[in-house]
Amino acid sequence: MKKSGKTKQKMRERVLERKSTSIYFLVWSAFSVVAFLTAFLCSLFQPYVIKNTYERQLSADVANKGNAIYVTLERLGAGVTTNEQYSALIRHLSVVNNVEVYVLFEDGEVLFPYPEISDEIPLRTDFSSEVTELTSQLAQNSERAVVYSTDKECIYGLALSEYQGKMTYLYVAESTEFLSEIMRETRVKIWFIAVFVFLVSFAVSSGIAGLLVDPIARMREKTNRFARGDFSVDFLDGAYGGEIVALAQTLNFARDEISKADKMQKELIANVSHDFKTPLTMIKSYASMIREISGDIPQKRNKHALVIEEEADRLTALVNDVLELSKLASGIGGLNLVEIDLSSYVYEVLNRFEYLSETQGYQFIVDVDEGIYTRADELKIGQVLYNLIGNAVNYTGEDKRVFISLKRDEVGAKFSVRDTGKGIKEEEIPTIWERYYRSSDAHKRPVKGTGLGLSIVKSALECHGFIYGVSSKEGKGSEFYVIFPKL
Ligand code: ADP
Repeated sequence: MKKSGKTKQKMRERVLERKSTSIYFLVWSAFSVVAFLTAFLCSLFQPYVIKNTYERQLSADVANKGNAIYVTLERLGAGVTTNEQYSALIRHLSVVNNVEVYVLFEDGEVLFPYPEISDEIPLRTDFSSEVTELTSQLAQNSERAVVYSTDKECIYGLALSEYQGKMTYLYVAESTEFLSEIMRETRVKIWFIAVFVFLVSFAVSSGIAGLLVDPIARMREKTNRFARGDFSVDFLDGAYGGEIVALAQTLNFARDEISKADKMQKELIANVSHDFKTPLTMIKSYASMIREISGDIPQKRNKHALVIEEEADRLTALVNDVLELSKLASGIGGLNLVEIDLSSYVYEVLNRFEYLSETQGYQFIVDVDEGIYTRADELKIGQVLYNLIGNAVNYTGEDKRVFISLKRDEVGAKFSVRDTGKGIKEEEIPTIWERYYRSSDAHKRPVKGTGLGLSIVKSALECHGFIYGVSSKEGKGSEFYVIFPKL
């Protein structure tokens, strides 16, 4: 079984609805992801940033302390007479500066302080690996003193003089273990902040999503009302935010256009029904007259039958025009663009009016440049030329003269039809192109008019994108023109 277009559309809408995530959720998740990532990256990098800063400060601090200890040792050491006293001085400097101070032999043995001098803190004895590192640091550095960090401490080292035939070094160390503690604490704090930020972002994103979604929801409700035929909705009312206001303006524009089209359609139906009714009534009454009165009187019967024929012709013309106009409005069939010999085509259309010059004394004054070609839909342009010439015939003056010209110009060719009639009032000019517009004066016209002629001209020319217009002076006549582009 084949699914109807409407069912398919409904199914598509349902699938789309299921697939599309709400703006509310999108904004909230975007916020949450950003908050989470920020917290995650902070927890990853922040401790290292802190550690780096601390380490730099510690190095400077250890360098200062090391230098100060060295200067003190140099100054006070000169007055010290025994090694025990020197040992005590070093121990004292350790305590005062809150660092470990040693004088080491090049093989890692401790020269000062003596182990027995240590009171509560046990002294380290083996420095072989530390001295290896220290000497390599000193070798790499042109300065006399070096400052560097290991896993656990920040070290200040300096080469002293030889003692008992071995090189001695000043070794000042400050522990960095407290840094790991700081980093652990920082990480915990950052995670707390992350959770807090996450909660705040939840609240903020909910607010922002609400601000975004609210006008859309309101617009949706209005669109539903509009779809049900309520043309009084104002989409701009209560809309805020540049894009939403722009959307509301577009919807208001669409509303106006649709309501105009709706009004025109209703008018068209009303007018068409009215125009159908008149000839149908005539046909019916004349047919009754033939049946009841004139059937047996040939002269009268023929007269009545002629009226029926004329009214039937009027109906046919009306049906054709309505069909043509609705085809043009809906774009059915599109444009069948072909190369047209416009000069010959004008004569061809004019031939259809020849009977008027023969029977009613109309004069067609023609001035057509030869060999003008254009690209257009032949049938539609034929209709345009026919309607314009037909109108000129209908509305021209007593002299029954109609001027037709086709002249080359820079852009292509200008076709114009001029009559000598009453002309069109200036205020009526913009309205004559509308469907069913008819000037207030009723005419008895030689070419049957349906009131749709000019709106067919307008639609057909607008489909092609051709320029057209009218210039008219009251009492002098009108000139309708069309500019045909070059091939
Ligand atoms: P119809 O001629 O059947 O009434 P049209 O759409 O062809 O319908 O024309 C609309 C109206 O424009 C006419 O009723 C008439 O008032 C005005 N009009 C058109 N052509 C001319 C013309 N050449 N001179 C004066 N008025 C015209």
